[in-house]
Amino acid sequence: MNTYDVVVVGGGAAGLSAALVLTRARRRVAVVDAGQPRNAPAAHMQGFIGSDGLPPSELLAAARVEVAGYDGHLISGTVASITACPPANAHTRRGLEVRLADGSSLTTRRVLVTTGLRDDIPDVPGVRERWGRDLLHCPYCHGYEVRDQPLGVLADADGDTETLEQALAHTHLVRQWSDDVVFFANGQTVSAAAREELVARAIGFVPEKVTRLVVDEDRLTGVEFADGHFVPRSAVFVRPRFVPNDILLTDLGCATNTTGWVAVDATGRTSVPGVWAAGNAANPRAQVVTAAGEGSAAAIAINNDLVDEDLPIAVTNFRLGLPII
Ligand SMILES: Cc1cc2nc3c(=O)[nH]c(=O)nc-3n(C[C@H](O)[C@H](O)[C@H](O)COP(=O)(O)OP(=O)(O)OC[C@H]3O[C@@H](n4cnc5c(N)ncnc54)[C@H](O)[C@@H]3O)c2cc1C
Repeated sequence: MNTYDVVVVGGGAAGLSAALVLTRARRRVAVVDAGQPRNAPAAHMQGFIGSDGLPPSELLAAARVEVAGYDGHLISGTVASITACPPANAHTRRGLEVRLADGSSLTTRRVLVTTGLRDDIPDVPGVRERWGRDLLHCPYCHGYEVRDQPLGVLADADGDTETLEQALAHTHLVRQWSDDVVFFANGQTVSAAAREELVARAIGFVPEKVTRLVVDEDRLTGVEFADGHFVPRSAVFVRPRFVPNDILLTDLGCATNTTGWVAVDATGRTSVPGVWAAGNAANPRAQVVTAAGEGSAAAIAINNDLVDEDLPIAVTNFRLGLPII
């Protein structure tokens, strides 16, 4: 049977946390997951109490065992679309059809989308290869591990003014973890005021365009420029552009906020009835612990919403002398 109370799309921290709460609430739950969590390139997950330093895959593997232990259905696959459909039976008022890329489909009363986001990083040779290893984005995730080392922050050569400002702000943040930080403007024009702010914090500045990250024996050693000069660094940070994986939500008609992200309330409820979103799909700032928390909050709200839906139907059935549901 492929009819559920809740289908969770995405089995990262947000989705599995929600599934755990919902299965423990005795809801019939399926989690459909394409198996590509955002932090997969990183060897360790930092900043999650009780699990600091755990490989990210181990956290999710343990969560899957927990969800399966409460009879949650874990489905490997990619959801291609979600559409409204007639309710599956007389005990419910809302129906959604979740169609997978392999052509199979599930019907459900509620859906929670936790499909994460995509990091759009500068297009410089070496950047993608070192991503999550010594080409980093989040100082809260990796800063402590590279503390006191020679660090760099790389601006996006193709970025706009806002992107440059974000890269400069990121540089001042990274400075918290090391006294030896260099800002690589990568050919972008930096104002005199911003240059002064860098000098004021003893942050180095290299204006030229970067040609590649240099790697030796599987370790980043520094940054190279067109004229051949080289600045040694043991890790380089970037400030990616965060792109939500929200096509399923926007296709459903979910409203977006002023920043263009799907608008949700404190529980993850979207503007479309029956549809919730949590984690990086709706919140670019969510760390693993935040994503897990948002998943949990959404699960509790969804369970309450189902109870609210069931009650008037139960009263009607009771008055008609129908069986108690
Ligand atoms: C390199 C790196 C290192 C990081 N390190 C840390 C760290 O140390 N500590 C920390 O707190 N945070 C860290 N983060 C941030 C962390 O990755 C996110 O906070 C976390 O992954 C968000 O969880 P999520 O469940 O929202 O999304 P994700 O973990 O990205 O999970 C989304 C899931 O949905 C699946 N999916 C997407 N689309 C579909 C679809 N259509 N159908 C089915 N499934 C789909 C994906 O395959 C994926 O499995 C790091 C991020 C990066 C990039």
